[in-house]
Amino acid sequence: MYRMSEKPLIDATEIHERVATLAREIAAAYDYDILISALTGAYMFTADLTRELAKVQGINATQKRIAFIKASSYGESMESSGKLQVQGLERINLQGKKILMVDDIADTGSTLLGLCEMLREAGVQDVRTCVLLNKQERREVDITADFVGFEIANEFVVGYGLDYANNYRFLPDIWTLQETN
Ligand code: 5GP
Ligand code: MG
Repeated sequence: MYRMSEKPLIDATEIHERVATLAREIAAAYDYDILISALTGAYMFTADLTRELAKVQGINATQKRIAFIKASSYGESMESSGKLQVQGLERINLQGKKILMVDDIADTGSTLLGLCEMLREAGVQDVRTCVLLNKQERREVDITADFVGFEIANEFVVGYGLDYANNYRFLPDIWTLQETN
């Protein structure tokens, strides 16, 4: 059994302040064509991030595109099954495009690395990565996200789009899930 931490690891106010700053960092550094968001975990982050990006991009924001893919390797457990499955990439015109790849969290890093490899194989001009959360301690493959919202410790987190067995996604704060006996 699992229970939520007594208070949020990162509360909604902190999230929104950091997402606004992150949008300024991205807009200053990278003029992407298409923001690709990995469902389902990144949906809430993506909605907030795109609104904040539009505030800083001005008229340029009208030219930005968004596309959603489904990347899964977890099933219903807390550990990655290690096998990355990606749906929806084939529907996006990627050739020669500059991509901003957005995901909820970089854990072992294999999802993000796998996605970058697929995008490069599809002929993109450039790909940079953005994650809301980074667990550096858990990294197993050689990838560094270009834009990171928060560095977190090796804990399982839920809320703000992130789930455990498809629960907890609607929560506006990020919580740690702890094992009970
Ligand atoms: P990676 O391929 O980097 O090991 O895992 C990335 C994916 O695992 C993320 O997109 C996310 O779906 C899931 N994941 C990794 N750590 C956590 C966590 O602490 N909480 C939740 N809810 N999902 C996680
Ligand atoms: Mg994910």
